Amino acid sequence: MKYIDPHIHMVSRTTDDYMRMAQAGCVAITEPAFWAGYDRCSVDGFRDYYRQLTETEPARAAQYGIHHHCWLCINPKEAEDVGFAREVMSCLPEFLDKSNVLGIGEIGLNKNSRNEMTILEAHLELAKSLDSLVLVHTPHLEDKLKGTQLIMDAVNNAGLQPDKVLIDHVEEHTVGEVLERGFWAGMTLYPDSKCTPQRAVDILERWGTDRIWMNSAGDWGNSDPLAVPKAQVEMRLRRHPSAMIEKVTFDNPITFLGRSPNFHVEC
Ligand SMILES: [Zn+2]
Repeated sequence: MKYIDPHIHMVSRTTDDYMRMAQAGCVAITEPAFWAGYDRCSVDGFRDYYRQLTETEPARAAQYGIHHHCWLCINPKEAEDVGFAREVMSCLPEFLDKSNVLGIGEIGLNKNSRNEMTILEAHLELAKSLDSLVLVHTPHLEDKLKGTQLIMDAVNNAGLQPDKVLIDHVEEHTVGEVLERGFWAGMTLYPDSKCTPQRAVDILERWGTDRIWMNSAGDWGNSDPLAVPKAQVEMRLRRHPSAMIEKVTFDNPITFLGRSPNFHVEC
């Protein structure tokens, strides 16, 4: 069955992963800009990363028949130095009109600090001025609920429509409020934290299949680039209809991402 992985960090993955994803039915991916596992020490370090996201990865993915798209920003883990973060943001306009850029992301909060919030607000202002989609990272574990609420308030204060913003890494204690406030929700399927495929399917059974998707967030750590097709298998084993599986793993990503003119997938 075809699927879209709407959040995966392919710069950290091998070409074998692209092949296995294509074999499992992946036809399109989106790659948010994020922390590389180390702090970059210069604005040019980010410039090189944005070139990788807008030039290298689309070409690499195309070899496997996968459409590659990306989101740009400076991530919250590297936003603690506000002056440096603003300098990095000043080079974003060089890349925002590249043909595979969908919007601003993954922005958000990591430790819910004041400096992170300042840079989050600057990104939301940029997204508002571009009328673009936004993909949001939410903090881990004990900071998640508070961070998610702070982010949703900041989106509202910036005057952005919640249905153009996807709040990612939702879990059982945040998904309800995210959906009730009109946002899109993303469930990240990790082997040992966030949601497993089983927990994600439990959430779908409780909260329904509107405005929600699943992603692997595959990166340089313990993660699984085939997590979305594994969740499809879990849904099939629980006898959920094909139309429901297709809605969450293919149709919903198209509905949200398709509002960017740069999103392409063959239906
Ligand atoms: Zn990510």
